[in-house]
Amino acid sequence: MQVKILGSGTSHGVPMIGCTCEVCTSPNPRNHRFRPSITVENEGHTILVDTTPELRMQSLTFGLNRVDAVLITHVHADHIFGLDDLRRFNDLSGEVIPVYGDKNAVDEIRRIFPYIFNPPKQGGGTPKIDLRLVPDSFELFGLRIDSLTVMHGSLPVLAYRFNNFAYVTDTNHIPEAAMEKLTGLDVLVLDAVRYQPHSTHFGLWEAVAVAEKLKARRVLFTHLSHHFEHDKTNSELPSHMQLAYDGQTIDF
Ligand SMILES: [Zn+2]
Ligand SMILES: [Zn+2]
Ligand SMILES: [Zn+2]
Repeated sequence: MQVKILGSGTSHGVPMIGCTCEVCTSPNPRNHRFRPSITVENEGHTILVDTTPELRMQSLTFGLNRVDAVLITHVHADHIFGLDDLRRFNDLSGEVIPVYGDKNAVDEIRRIFPYIFNPPKQGGGTPKIDLRLVPDSFELFGLRIDSLTVMHGSLPVLAYRFNNFAYVTDTNHIPEAAMEKLTGLDVLVLDAVRYQPHSTHFGLWEAVAVAEKLKARRVLFTHLSHHFEHDKTNSELPSHMQLAYDGQTIDF
């Protein structure tokens, strides 16, 4: 199994439009952050978690040319507004792509992208997707996948565990039931939007405390804002807990 960070940035991305701060103007490529998503590759198949508005640029930048299934964490714009770019992956594989989410995600994708399900007669391509309710636990391409509910402010969103790896973005509270399913991890990717606490995301030190409780062997923080200068923040963190960066790969 190989995990790739396609985007480690918060909803605005980094650099932010119109910001002249030290991080947004940094020449260090690790301070350049697309909106948040990952791929999980196993047995020659690729699962994409979330379709960000930058899916095309992420695919071109990091050589993504195959998507066999999509898992949605939740339907905020920074996680789904690149759904239309799945058209290219339909063309490349000739296959319909299953897209998994919770009931809210499935309902909202139908509402937000009506043209996908009722294509206009005058033409124009539409992605060929098969929307599915995600099971609590299932197998896909040789991976055991668990979907876990975590809280993003008052919104329940999904985190995903793939064997001994878990992707937990957009959360400021992990309920006990999910905490129990996040033990024994080799690698945990966890939300940390800025140093200070936030109403819908973990602040960095809250995220560190949660990660310590879960005892994952390695932790990478994601959904990062321009408050983090990559090298400076990493020097403040223990060596097994670091900021993720775009293009980072983790082999299992
Ligand atoms: Zn987000
Ligand atoms: Zn900035
Ligand atoms: Zn969100």
